[in-house]
Amino acid sequence: MGNSLIFDTLNRPLRDLRISVTDRCNFRCPYCMPAEIFGDRYEFLPRADLLTFEEITRVVNIAVELGVTKVRITGGEPLVRQNIEELIGMIAAVDGVEDLAMTTNAYLLSGYAQKLKDAGLQRITVSLDSLEDDIFQKMNGRGFSTARVLDGIKAAKEAGLQPIKINAVVQKGVNNHTVVGLAEWCKSNGHTPRFIEYMDVGTLNDWKLEQVVAADEIVELIRQKFPADPVGPTYPGEVAKRYRYKDGEGEFGVISSVSQPFCGDCSRMRLSPEGKAVTCLFAESGTDLRKWLRNGSTDDEIKDAIIGIWGEREDRYSEERSEETVKRKKVEMYHIGG
Ligand code: SAM
Ligand code: SF4
Ligand code: SF4
Repeated sequence: MGNSLIFDTLNRPLRDLRISVTDRCNFRCPYCMPAEIFGDRYEFLPRADLLTFEEITRVVNIAVELGVTKVRITGGEPLVRQNIEELIGMIAAVDGVEDLAMTTNAYLLSGYAQKLKDAGLQRITVSLDSLEDDIFQKMNGRGFSTARVLDGIKAAKEAGLQPIKINAVVQKGVNNHTVVGLAEWCKSNGHTPRFIEYMDVGTLNDWKLEQVVAADEIVELIRQKFPADPVGPTYPGEVAKRYRYKDGEGEFGVISSVSQPFCGDCSRMRLSPEGKAVTCLFAESGTDLRKWLRNGSTDDEIKDAIIGIWGEREDRYSEERSEETVKRKKVEMYHIGG
């Protein structure tokens, strides 16, 4: 279909599009949306500011022509956006989208899994930081137990959204002692966990390096109980380092964005709920695509805008991270997704 790749200043192609469909969330994970900041009076984006499903799909169509093959729906919490399955159906129908996935906290997933699968969602990643209720309750900031999330995961499995990935952010002194238990549970249920180093995303979580558990440490913790060998990436630019259990039963991954950054392979562009194109998880801001989507611009004009944005991209935040960069102004994670 004549798709042509575009490259940034560091020669990285545009391959992945992560679409945040809402800035709202039913959780208040302190590392992402601390409850004391996102309280009852917090003003989320008004509905009219959100890109419509048609606008999002138009961006996907254009992005595919520029080489994007992978699309991930995220948030905020994507399942709080009404009728999200309609958007999934619209994106699944775009010729050239080879991989369509979603990241969710799964609180609402049991009622959605089959609808999402039927609409064309291929894969799902569920965020679940710990199986231990007291820890999970703290880490979701709402006091919710794991029960509904586990129901959601079960429903996704039954709907055939497999294999399911489980994301867990690891914070020292908070949930690091439950990592092996989560790995074990995933192993026996056929899920693939990915342990994520706690990152200094946004400006609100008061991140400190001492709270990070390095990926190597996580790997050793798991390997002591379940011997595993490293395996290569499934595709170029895969963010997780993967390990396959020697008994042949499954694998786990670690995302080492702090201790071993992987900017050199980063082919991801993010689209915020109000239509900003953001070229790095740690970017200060994004470029407003909504104005072009709403001012009568043609697809070619919008395509040129994206070519321009990507062509100027020089982000490699994680490779440059220092005490200084941590204090920089940054887009918040709940706004642009993981
Ligand atoms: N609400 C959905 C969820 O939690 O799965 C999707 C959006 S959430 C922003 C996407 C991912 O970012 C989640 O897996 C979450 O754990 C991760 N995340 C959020 N803040 C983080 C941080 N400070 N460090 C590392 N990962 C983080
Ligand atoms: Fe919500 Fe996901 Fe952020 Fe937690 S990590 S507050 S579930 S957006
Ligand atoms: Fe990509 Fe930015 Fe993360 Fe580096 S820091 S891997 S450029 S999103």
